[in-house]
Amino acid sequence: MKFLSTRGGAPPASFTTALFDGLAPDGGLYVPEKIEPWTASELSRLPRRTLTEIGLRALRPFTRGEIDPAVLEAVVVEALNFDIPLVEVEPWIFALELFHGPTLAFKDVGARVMARLMASLHQAEEPLTVLVATSGDTGSAVAHAFHRVPHTRVVILYPDGRVSPTQEAQLTMFNGERTNVRAYAVSGSFDDCHRLTREAFGDAALRTRMRLTSANSVNVGRLLPQSVYYFHAVAQAHAATPVTFCTPSGNFGNLTAGLMAKRAGLPVERFVAATNVNDVVPAYLETGRYQPRASMATLANAMDVGHPSNFERMTWLYGGDLDAMRRDIVGSRHTDDDVRATIRDVFETRGYLLDPHSAIGYMGLKRQMGRVGQVGRVGIFLATAHPAKFAEIVEPIIGRPVEKPAPLADALARPRYIIRIDASLDAVRGLLTTD
Ligand SMILES: *Cc1c(COP(=O)(O)O)cnc(C)c1O
Repeated sequence: MKFLSTRGGAPPASFTTALFDGLAPDGGLYVPEKIEPWTASELSRLPRRTLTEIGLRALRPFTRGEIDPAVLEAVVVEALNFDIPLVEVEPWIFALELFHGPTLAFKDVGARVMARLMASLHQAEEPLTVLVATSGDTGSAVAHAFHRVPHTRVVILYPDGRVSPTQEAQLTMFNGERTNVRAYAVSGSFDDCHRLTREAFGDAALRTRMRLTSANSVNVGRLLPQSVYYFHAVAQAHAATPVTFCTPSGNFGNLTAGLMAKRAGLPVERFVAATNVNDVVPAYLETGRYQPRASMATLANAMDVGHPSNFERMTWLYGGDLDAMRRDIVGSRHTDDDVRATIRDVFETRGYLLDPHSAIGYMGLKRQMGRVGQVGRVGIFLATAHPAKFAEIVEPIIGRPVEKPAPLADALARPRYIIRIDASLDAVRGLLTTD
């Protein structure tokens, strides 16, 4: 399968090129040239399929001719080695819990599949070096995703003193081991980290010495695997009619993956694009005007995005037809006050604890189901992070401590090895070429 650029100014690329290059040369995002529909019998057999079988079926068309089916199966089995259960929160309302991976958030799914896809396509003696700038969560998902993956090494740059203690524990967890993952605290901002990775990628001398790649959030290797769990959710729902999904969104990769699943035939009534006050996509759906702007800080901080990259993929999928997009997607915007009230209310009345991002998913879903009438219809919101990841927000709201799942407790219990570096290309060059 070939991959095209959303901007149409780049030659069609192979899956391998799209995976290792990340962005198309014209600055656009890669999209598959076609989305092959599932047959009616494949869809009707969905409830009897395992997560691995679904993953294999969903990803096979995109990698055909480049990754052997047996290799792809190994990729999927190793990457998706945790549960993604559908949990009933109240009648007709379900949480798709995407937070049972090593860093307790849905980004584990895309990052773990991408890491193994890259490893399977890079068999050279010298390891593939993955260089990532992170403001927190993406970096730890990538670190854990590549940990001990053969022929790869990961170098993560994060801004010193500007990630939460929990995030730093998860990011630096492997610094005390002799493994393939290292995280460095850069004396500077996230923008400095980002600039340093760009400078390193632009350094011709460095690039002749090593195979350097990125692992950013727009990579097709992260996007495509995210459609797998939409199929897996429908497989578990046993719904008589098409389901409604609500995806709490920031950069809109997660929602775009759902739209692609629908394009492949998954029976979905509607998608709710739920955001915090950074609502450029809901505003676009309402007014038809797309006005990206600087982001505002909220409790659901992984969704504080004022200029969502995947909007380009969304408009590409609908060929710029706003009415067609409106038939599939409805927007929903929610404030921090609503988030707090919902976390408290759902915990007290249903005994289910939401993190701030999942709370926005729940609210967006309830609002839409209230409009269309809920009885007889299944609604699913994506629970994108475990509440323990946001204990400092959630605990005061419910007035009691949140138990930390094993992977998080383990990260916090380890001795902390912080490695500080200057915000200079020389420093980055040094750590890339020594070690
Ligand atoms: C990244 C993230 C989101 C937003 O996902 P997008 O694909 O960027 O829209 C939502 N919730 C959590 C917990 C996240 O980490």
